[in-house]
Amino acid sequence: MIKEVTYYIASCDCCGEDADYGDYSAWSDHGEAMSQADPEFQRIGDEILCQSCWCWPEDLPDYPGDDAWEGTDDAVRKHEQHPATEEGTS
Ligand SMILES: [Zn+2]
Ligand SMILES: [Zn+2]
Repeated sequence: MIKEVTYYIASCDCCGEDADYGDYSAWSDHGEAMSQADPEFQRIGDEILCQSCWCWPEDLPDYPGDDAWEGTDDAVRKHEQHPATEEGTS
């Protein structure tokens, strides 16, 4: 018989972009899908974000400086809302 199986790919929780694994298109477990997408994709809190959607705290436009920053040293979500593109996405 033919059975349906489930595979996993990382997908951005912000913009919906899927990870590009080159020759591989999907993975049989969550961990592999995530680690193979690293460093383009990062797990931030309970979200997974692509490289357009996360950045280091010091790369934030409103980063107040090392002394004033009280947040995490880990990667952060770059924007609350994904910026709209001019053409719009289909
Ligand atoms: Zn994204
Ligand atoms: Zn985004």
